[in-house]
Amino acid sequence: MGKVLIIGAGGVGTVVAHKVAQNPDVFTEIVLASRTKSKCDAIAKAIGSDRIITDQVDADNVNELIKLFNTHKPDIVINVALPYQDLTIMDACLACGVNYLDTANYEPLDEAKFEYKWQWAYQERFKKAGLTAILGCGFDPGVSGVYTAYAAKHYFKEMHYLDIVDCNAGDHGKAFATNFNPEINIREVTQKGKYYENGKWIYTEPHEIHKPLNYPNIGPKESYVIYHEELESLVKNYPTLKRARFWMTFGQEYLTHLRVIQNIGMARIDPIMYNGVEIVPIQFLKAVLPNPGELGENYVGETSIGCRIKGIDKEGKEMTYYVYNNCSHHAAYLETGAQGVSYTTGVPAMIGAMMFLKGLWKKPGVYNVEEFDPDPFMEQLNKQGLPWHEIFNEDLEV
Ligand code: NDP
Repeated sequence: MGKVLIIGAGGVGTVVAHKVAQNPDVFTEIVLASRTKSKCDAIAKAIGSDRIITDQVDADNVNELIKLFNTHKPDIVINVALPYQDLTIMDACLACGVNYLDTANYEPLDEAKFEYKWQWAYQERFKKAGLTAILGCGFDPGVSGVYTAYAAKHYFKEMHYLDIVDCNAGDHGKAFATNFNPEINIREVTQKGKYYENGKWIYTEPHEIHKPLNYPNIGPKESYVIYHEELESLVKNYPTLKRARFWMTFGQEYLTHLRVIQNIGMARIDPIMYNGVEIVPIQFLKAVLPNPGELGENYVGETSIGCRIKGIDKEGKEMTYYVYNNCSHHAAYLETGAQGVSYTTGVPAMIGAMMFLKGLWKKPGVYNVEEFDPDPFMEQLNKQGLPWHEIFNEDLEV
């Protein structure tokens, strides 16, 4: 059906490469490129498929990307490098006529923002070029938006309250490690809390609002309201929402480490001089922390991520709905060599590209996932390793 170019060979890139290789009827040709080519070669070797071509690229450099795209001529690029590279890759897509998909919104290097405005500004250019850009197609953002679109399409006349609940009840056996790129992860969880209520954004101190929530097959876990980027597009696309929040579980150990990291200045994202060399503390910290892509081997337990929604059903009655997936870290590791957080991100990225190549999610412009038909995506989630479950009209706790 089409040729895919994956950019990024971290934990998520590893999973995407495995999953596209498992679907040869859709992904007829596969290229995997990243800053460090040896990492791409190692992934291709682990998959054991001679269908994966590897290459090197610095995705901060548009000219290098254009050269890469012209060499391989992909139909779609799956960007699973870092959010800093979103705009350069989108620029190269426009220059070469390539479609685009990512799992995280563009981030300026010097400011943690988690906003879509820079990428939404590409709408007209992608439309004019007849190219599709699919934004935020991991799990959250990603499946969280697809779940919401599915609820809106099939069950609700009006959705009023949306709570996205993200629990990682896994244990990797390390004193402190992040489950995806440490720099992005620490930027995300140390920022101020923010949620949407009655047409306004409400700001909180980091981790100010918290309570234990029950997760299926896991039990109660302390959960914290943090800001997460999909809230921005979801409240725009579903204007009946009176409130939208994002909850994430954190262990006490994790929060203590995080507080120390912040207090001693290691979470800083501005450059400082050290021995005559300019370094960014959080980038240095990343270099000494465990590599999230290598946490898989001893990781036990599971993740549980879902949407809890209250509103009015199609018949006009009050209704609650909870849709979720639980993913085992160990099962993810056995299949791909990566842990559950990389797995739950990489599988939806592959499915999004599949939706595009099958012509199901193809519309010129820049779109968040909830703007496409959720049904074929939901069907693939069940087939590709992330089955979902629904609970109707029970107390949602939130
Ligand atoms: P990693 O840090 O493990 O991997 C990032 C990869 O990108 C590395 O291979 C790195 O290369 C490569 N890279 C970085 N800079 C460049 C560059 N300038 N040019 C080319 N390649 C580059 O991150 P993860 O795999 O954990 O995460 C990947 C993405 O997925 C991130 O954007 C993250 O925010 C997103 N994510 C989304 C989630 C969701 O649910 N939506 C959840 C988790 C993650 P090198 O090895 O040389 O450093």
